[in-house]
Amino acid sequence: MLEPKRRLVVLDPPARARASAPRLEDDDHFHDECGVFGVFGHSEAANMTYLGLHALQHRGQESAGIVTSDGGQLYAHRAMGLVTDAFTQEQLGRLPGRQAIGHVRYSTAGASHIKNAQPFAVDYARGSLAVCHNGNLTNADEVRSELEARGSIFQSDTDTEVFVHLVAISKEIAIEDRIADALGRVKGAYSLLFMTEDAVIAVRDPMGIRPLCLGILPSKKDAHVLSSEPCAFELIGAEYVRDVEPGEMIIIDSSGIRSMRPLPKAPPRQCVFEYVYFARPDSQLGGKSVYQTREAFGRTLAREHPMQADVVVPVPDSGVPAAIGYAAEVGSRFEMGLIRSHYVGRTFIEPQESIRHFGVRLKLSPVEPVLRGRRVVVIDDSIVRGTTSRKIIKMIRDAGAKEVHLRISSPPTQWPCFYGIDTPTRRELIASSHSTDEIARYTTADSLGYLSLEGMLGALGGSDSFCHACFSGKYEIPFTPTSKRQMRLVGV
Ligand code: SF4
Repeated sequence: MLEPKRRLVVLDPPARARASAPRLEDDDHFHDECGVFGVFGHSEAANMTYLGLHALQHRGQESAGIVTSDGGQLYAHRAMGLVTDAFTQEQLGRLPGRQAIGHVRYSTAGASHIKNAQPFAVDYARGSLAVCHNGNLTNADEVRSELEARGSIFQSDTDTEVFVHLVAISKEIAIEDRIADALGRVKGAYSLLFMTEDAVIAVRDPMGIRPLCLGILPSKKDAHVLSSEPCAFELIGAEYVRDVEPGEMIIIDSSGIRSMRPLPKAPPRQCVFEYVYFARPDSQLGGKSVYQTREAFGRTLAREHPMQADVVVPVPDSGVPAAIGYAAEVGSRFEMGLIRSHYVGRTFIEPQESIRHFGVRLKLSPVEPVLRGRRVVVIDDSIVRGTTSRKIIKMIRDAGAKEVHLRISSPPTQWPCFYGIDTPTRRELIASSHSTDEIARYTTADSLGYLSLEGMLGALGGSDSFCHACFSGKYEIPFTPTSKRQMRLVGV
């Protein structure tokens, strides 16, 4: 009997990257789930993807993976931890080929475990296929149950594996038609990169909720790159070409680059929180600079909640551009009254009562000469549970500030996200059950002001082409919570 041809080669992760990575317990933020990066037509595809993932590290720190193809066979390597922990030079050298896709992950659907690391890569009846995903499907459990009932065996807990099975069972012939067929079965938010032995295929969901953009390497005119954010292009010397359009599929192979529209048209609804916190400030999304948008949020916030103080201080790093905008608008001094440690990594230290500010102090330190005896306006991007804001305000008061006024450069976060962002349950979101005055009292701020939703959309140019469900409760992809995760988030 002939041995089946083994087309997929899976490398072992380094020992230090096999275990599940711990999470920072004192991190009161929404978290992006993932970043994706792909390249076609470059002799150092694995190295380019490694660098691209490094630039996208802020989008996910739990696991990283790269799959390459040499035109006949796929080579996969996935491991837990940061990109720099997940790959050695030797392992990158064992990922040959001129095309690659890669992924960094911070889990939302599915636990933090190597089996959920991406890209997924499989051999199936028609060849080899790899896929990685940024987003969440709202009907993943339903589709998964149907697939399991007809015999599919899942290796992971993630939504992403659903795509692999749907593509494998499609009756279509061409890979783009098989993918389109699979996409017709799912609902939710997805920016996806697929890879076969000889093509890289990018798809963005019909509303374009999660970002995805296309670039080109000018030194190699036929080398194309794809990334969750264009900040990754800068690092490898690629040029931003454009965003992948909502509902668009881009196929890149040796015959060039093609675009298809296999999905029904829908109103665009890009995630507005990318501009608040997730995206890197040096990125441009939907034609808008993230840095300038954050600065405009700060200016609008200053007009809505002005406060003449001695100094405007950001909570670094994400609060910096908004604080610059706020300070310029009210005519106050901008100063770095808090310094962030960039070497914390992630820690699982559970603060004891005796050192209960330890978690925040690992990340932030007060600059006493900036704060002592002053009336301080602190600018942060959001309040999730309120616990971190309370600790930061105490830290600023302990450093001698006379007054501490808190300003938030986004509206109150009242609703969980079902479109690819890790959020606490609705009950845990302090703004879902407390007024602004109550939150001010809890955080011990002398005053508190949030940017309004209208102000936020106005700073983005006035169009309502954004998802803002976590602020407004207006879920653009309606669904009935059925999965355990969905029910837990809404508190059913
Ligand atoms: S609910 Fe919030 S975090 Fe989720 S996609 Fe919409 S705007 Fe982004």
